[in-house]
Amino acid sequence: MSKKMPATPLLDQLESGPWPSFVTGLKRLANSKDARAGDQVKSLLGQLELSYETRKGYWKGGTVGVFGYGAGVIPRFSEVADKYPESAEFHTLRIMPAPAFFYDTKSLRDICDVWEEHGSGLIALHGQSGDIMLQGCTTDQVQKAWDKINAMGFDMGGAGAGIRTSAACVGPARCEHACYDTLTAMKTIIDDFVDDIHRPSLPYKAKFKFSGCANDCSNATQRSDYAIFGTWRDDMVVNQDEIKAKVAQLGRKEFINQVIRMCPTQALALNDDDTLDVDNKSCVRCMHCINVCTKALSPGNDRGITIRVGGKRTLKIGDLMGTVVVPFMKLDTEEDYEALLELAHRFLDFFADNALEHERTGEMIERIGLANYLEGLDLPLDLNMISQPRTNSYVRLDGWDEEARKWSERQTNAAE
Ligand code: SF4
Ligand code: SF4
Repeated sequence: MSKKMPATPLLDQLESGPWPSFVTGLKRLANSKDARAGDQVKSLLGQLELSYETRKGYWKGGTVGVFGYGAGVIPRFSEVADKYPESAEFHTLRIMPAPAFFYDTKSLRDICDVWEEHGSGLIALHGQSGDIMLQGCTTDQVQKAWDKINAMGFDMGGAGAGIRTSAACVGPARCEHACYDTLTAMKTIIDDFVDDIHRPSLPYKAKFKFSGCANDCSNATQRSDYAIFGTWRDDMVVNQDEIKAKVAQLGRKEFINQVIRMCPTQALALNDDDTLDVDNKSCVRCMHCINVCTKALSPGNDRGITIRVGGKRTLKIGDLMGTVVVPFMKLDTEEDYEALLELAHRFLDFFADNALEHERTGEMIERIGLANYLEGLDLPLDLNMISQPRTNSYVRLDGWDEEARKWSERQTNAAE
């Protein structure tokens, strides 16, 4: 006979709002036809309710893994196993996703079948690093489940103090805003670092993420140390007929409110004849106007990437959104990809040599200073790296070029 559903008055409240609740999903799984998996999830719900009552988590780590890998399985042992024995072991397998999360339905069904056979059936698509999270496995089933997932062609994701699984937005596969091939970029980096993903050897975790434009659909800003965005360096493409159509659709007042006034750098002006002027030198490529006027405006034709380093919310020193260290770089040819890889190795070598234990890249840069970081990586300084230069009265722009030239000469002399 299967286990009785525990009373969960606190968890039930999470189902009362307008949004889908994970509690509803867990209850559905708890009532699944498979009694073993159902009991495991009922037990999990009981433990979770206890955590809500006592405001305390009851999971502890341990050592669980699969042959040949130093990372990828997150061990979870319950501290209240006597009360909830069916979920005493509830390990997670992290599985690397396909770039941009493209799967065929057969793969997804096969993953579900494996996890119903060997785990609790509970799957999270996707974790914050981008992994397929197969949650709820006993120690004796971990290797068996992994062997089947691996035979399907999937690889284990990252965990621990090493390079982590990555994520890319859908990019050029489906999105007209994409300024580079996010999928190929992610595959290039991950394939090259796959050994470091499986055998962690860094001071702390390090993540790359890839977004095809500043809309950042892969959450690279908040969720990675090395965020690679698409951008452009020529002029935005403007279709004035479509601008006129958009103005007619919204009305001049609304167009001004929704587009012109929302530009963070006041780079837009609507003319009397309903055409649009773009001050491309002031545009910071934030994507707002392009998002609102999708037919009328597009990124320019000279596209490439911007690399922002040191982001992640939340770190021990607070929220960091990273600093742009490479304002623009082309990413079209094989040589461009090789240059990106070489830079990625420089980032990680510097991190390995200079970060303290349990220190993320952003925290390391805060500690040693951005100027030292850039010097260590042999990357040129750029005016745009100054936080809020437009509102910082300590930044004088006159004479900047001269100072930059002197700095560059000092660098050259030091290198000789
Ligand atoms: Fe499209 Fe940009 Fe979002 Fe990528 S980040 S899916 S390119 S809007
Ligand atoms: Fe302004 Fe952003 Fe449009 Fe550039 S992309 S013109 S910064 S709203």
